Amino acid sequence: MFSLKPGNCVSFGWPKTEYQRADFFNWGLSINHINMSAVWSRRGIIQAGLIGAAGLTSLLTAWIILQSKIRRLPVVQFPDPVLRQTAQPIDTIDDNIMHLAKQMIATLKVRALPDFLMKASLPRGLSAPQIGVSKRLTVCGLHGELKVLVNPTIVEKSGSYQNREYCLSLPTYPTHTIQRSEYIRLQYLDLQSRPQTLVAARNSAGLLEHEIDHLNGILYIDRV
Ligand SMILES: [Zn+2]
Repeated sequence: MFSLKPGNCVSFGWPKTEYQRADFFNWGLSINHINMSAVWSRRGIIQAGLIGAAGLTSLLTAWIILQSKIRRLPVVQFPDPVLRQTAQPIDTIDDNIMHLAKQMIATLKVRALPDFLMKASLPRGLSAPQIGVSKRLTVCGLHGELKVLVNPTIVEKSGSYQNREYCLSLPTYPTHTIQRSEYIRLQYLDLQSRPQTLVAARNSAGLLEHEIDHLNGILYIDRV
């Protein structure tokens, strides 16, 4: 545990005198022989490091919010009718769709900021109807990276998984356990119009099913 120099502490081995034995059994080591100033200075360094890390995190948070304020969009709230529409397929991935995807990523980063900062990933998703655009476009954090899914379609699914869910469009509603597929295979287009296949399991599969539900006008509360 401690890596002090030999002169600063004694008795990490078996205590030799009666006095040391009493201390050993009381504290697990002869703590009275440790140069505590060395320990405190080490703690001071750790504390300073933690304070520095907290400061950096705050600065990063402020920076992300500042950057994202330029492009982020308000999330449509239930019971807005757009959340109940079947979204339209995207025929052409043009500049408007690219811009929309960027805005959705910025919006998701701000709305799921704690996850983004703590895990450097976003185990959350946002679909275009949630920002008032009835198109089949979803952005989500998956397998440690942000993905943009155009016209996603589940082509295979199996098993069942109890997934804990909430929704940015229903912020006042409680988290519910929803029965989802344990495994899904999904096809979609990326932003370069290339067909892609994605395999997801358990909570990742649940996240994708939640987002594709949004494209079909279905909300998680419908599945409680
Ligand atoms: Zn949702």
